[in-house]
Amino acid sequence: MKNEFAATRRQFIKLVGAAMAAIPLLGLNNRAVAATNAAMRSAMKYQDKANDGKSCSGCAQFIPGKTATSLGGCKVCAGDTEISSSGYCVAWTARPK
Ligand code: SF4
Repeated sequence: MKNEFAATRRQFIKLVGAAMAAIPLLGLNNRAVAATNAAMRSAMKYQDKANDGKSCSGCAQFIPGKTATSLGGCKVCAGDTEISSSGYCVAWTARPK
């Protein structure tokens, strides 16, 4: 019983240490904050190029970045902040006019 508690405490201390070590990286480097959702990209067959004139910039799910050409997000691809405005996936839906 005592050994189980010690092992759990050691694991907890390791996890906290790793989390604390990552904080400065996230705070000082904006690229570290950016993220891709590889599983969703694969499931949706995401590509960085338009398909038959259809691109993320014309999709209802696209969350634009700071400029028209900068990377943005997608309502379908949760947590992904590197969606190209000229990208495409099978979930493309025309943006309402
Ligand atoms: S659903 Fe697909 S096409 Fe539409 S913004 Fe997201 S990744 Fe781009």
